Amino acid sequence: MLKLSSRLDSLEESVTLAITAKAKALKSEGRDIVGLGAGEPDFDTPENIKEAAIAAIRSGQTKYTAVGGIVELKDAIIEKFKSDNGLNFDRSEIIVSCGGKHSIYNLFQALLNPGDEVIIPGPYWVSYPAIVTISGGTPVVVATTEATGFKMTPEAFSAAITPATKAVIINSPSNPTGAAYSRAELEAIAEVALKNNLVIITDDIYEKLVYDDFEFTSIASISKEVSDSSVVLNGVSKAYSMTGWRIGYAAGPKELIGAMSKIQSQSTSNPTSISQWAAVEALSGPQDSIAMMCKEFVKRRDVMVAGLNAIEGVTCPVPHGAFYCFPNVSGLYERNNVKGSVELSAYLLDSAGVAVVPGSAFGDDSALRLSYATSLDMVEEALKRIAAAVK
Ligand code: GLU
Repeated sequence: MLKLSSRLDSLEESVTLAITAKAKALKSEGRDIVGLGAGEPDFDTPENIKEAAIAAIRSGQTKYTAVGGIVELKDAIIEKFKSDNGLNFDRSEIIVSCGGKHSIYNLFQALLNPGDEVIIPGPYWVSYPAIVTISGGTPVVVATTEATGFKMTPEAFSAAITPATKAVIINSPSNPTGAAYSRAELEAIAEVALKNNLVIITDDIYEKLVYDDFEFTSIASISKEVSDSSVVLNGVSKAYSMTGWRIGYAAGPKELIGAMSKIQSQSTSNPTSISQWAAVEALSGPQDSIAMMCKEFVKRRDVMVAGLNAIEGVTCPVPHGAFYCFPNVSGLYERNNVKGSVELSAYLLDSAGVAVVPGSAFGDDSALRLSYATSLDMVEEALKRIAAAVK
């Protein structure tokens, strides 16, 4: 039998992508499925962005570009950081990659040595620990609960630090909980990180998707000292509904960005030239589609939170950002004769035709993740089906 790399021994397939694929496959077989698995906006990519891509094709922008991205896109990213976050970078401190996940992959490949620990507040996005592990590092999960709004306290953070800790990753608003850190909370986290000489990694991909007048702060923007120790990750997928275009970017110390670029030069080379030109338009063109999306997301969120809380045995806090609800559903397990979140999601898919992601994929088996990046009708239909299935 073919012997595969031992790198695969502890690697699981991305559960979020696997569930999305399963829901799609069932739909194509004719099953009536409501998909709340995918973390991707259901809106079309705005027309001006598509036109920019078509213009790029027509004008021959179809060849290799610089590995780390075209200067026009780097400049648009530099401008975005300046105006949105008050952060200043130059071109050598920016790298464009094939989606946010690829930026994270390059980062951990460039940063970690065997034994290096990375602190990850849990519940966490499914791919953080997997990418740390595949890069030779050790993920150290600091579990958070609803009691702290699913946010890591400075005390819990301090307690998890060892001499081997190299970095911490903050994802606010969070996938999967929607938890969003205030500036004061980030200041307290940054203080601990600086005291311990850690690299602060901030995944700001949901920056634009915040609700209830919540004001987004990137931890990197707290002070010059913090930004000098930070790597900021972002991308166009979520804010501009461009998941399929695969454009993510990272900003940070020149030496580290250079190392990420070296790795990228030996793997994917440049991200797609056409997508890069589309991203220039996304970042520099009209921004009104973001407000339109947020207005819709908040309506769906409110319906979803209320619907989930109306089910006996389910409690769902109000998320302030991203497009996920992360209800505690452990009150349903015994009643429905299921052992945990994996079995409950399988039951909901089989008996109700609703695709959700088990909380265990994010490090919390008492919960499910439901995406409200789908139409209000679908959200309502899913809630009706779930309520009926778990009675
Ligand atoms: N970030 C999205 C999610 O969590 C996209 C899928 C993935 O790459 O995990 O659903």
